[in-house]
Amino acid sequence: MNVMDERFRGAQVRSLPRPNKRFAAGRVCAAPGCGTKLSMYNKWRYCWQHEPVHSYVPRGRRKSRAAA
Ligand SMILES: [Zn+2]
Repeated sequence: MNVMDERFRGAQVRSLPRPNKRFAAGRVCAAPGCGTKLSMYNKWRYCWQHEPVHSYVPRGRRKSRAAA
């Protein structure tokens, strides 16, 4: 079943007009012991499990710790 794979890859490469920013392919999460592959479009160095929250807020507004 390698033919399908080859075809898919070939077609994908050809049909992509101009990808956005691409990063190195085949990268893996930078967290120790984690081998999760990262997307070429993922500009972070960690997988979705290990990367720090940055682009979205988990739930509503988060309080900064007022009581210390
Ligand atoms: Zn990870």
